[in-house]
Amino acid sequence: MRSLLPLYQAITTVVVGDGQSTSFWHDIWLGEECLSEQFHLLQSHCKHTDQSVSDIVIGGLRRHLAPRVTTEALGELALVEALLSQVTLTATFDKRYSPFADHDGKLHTRDLYALLKSMSAPAGTTVSKFWSSCAPPRVQFFAWLLVHGQIQCKENLLKRRILMDSTCELCGGQPETTSHLILHCSFAASFWRSLGFDIPDDFEARDIHQLPRPASIAGSHFDTFVLLCCWHLWKRRNGITFRQESMSLRQTLQACKNEARLWSCRLPCGERNIAAHWCSLFSLAM
Ligand SMILES: [Zn+2]
Repeated sequence: MRSLLPLYQAITTVVVGDGQSTSFWHDIWLGEECLSEQFHLLQSHCKHTDQSVSDIVIGGLRRHLAPRVTTEALGELALVEALLSQVTLTATFDKRYSPFADHDGKLHTRDLYALLKSMSAPAGTTVSKFWSSCAPPRVQFFAWLLVHGQIQCKENLLKRRILMDSTCELCGGQPETTSHLILHCSFAASFWRSLGFDIPDDFEARDIHQLPRPASIAGSHFDTFVLLCCWHLWKRRNGITFRQESMSLRQTLQACKNEARLWSCRLPCGERNIAAHWCSLFSLAM
């Protein structure tokens, strides 16, 4: 079971009550990713990372830090402390949500089984590519949803009668299907073009593992690179849809570049220069 814990944490989101059963660093409870992904540097300065949300909200984060903290990590500490100042614990239990569960917490075992089965698929098959990529578990899971057409885009919510209209909010012209959002919406299309991709009009998101690779992009860990791009297109969409943010192409490429730096430590030793190559691709595209 222990080996499944990162996946379990990646596919659930917690609404914090008393904060006692939620991992401060590894659960997703503040923002769209766990804090260890968002504030990787700061986490690397912590002596332990097994504290609950309640431990940190009540006792503070500083007492868990190693004696010497770099300036960059101090910058992250200031951001985390600002976020924590807005957190209020209550007397209720923490509540976990998952795309594999109903509102009442009942699990859709068939979907979950398909997910677990795909994780143990033989190397070289479509699905195994994502689980063996160097992306964080949360993003690997996002890729699985993407390929299976299950991300919460408006077209899917319309099918489940949660929404009455599926018009894409980014362009206002087309239904927001997975393929439209990630590949063909005007912003996505210019994003991919800026990186040298030439994506056919009928290309579908479920075939994302076969996205034609431009000659200018290295072949090794190309799957991870594609996932990084898709993940940021999705994050940008959520920022616009839920938080009325605006994000230009340049800002999105910059966010990808920052993420590429963070992911470099996920690449095997000796291959981390790939992340520097990705950073230069994003810089060139700006
Ligand atoms: Zn659109």
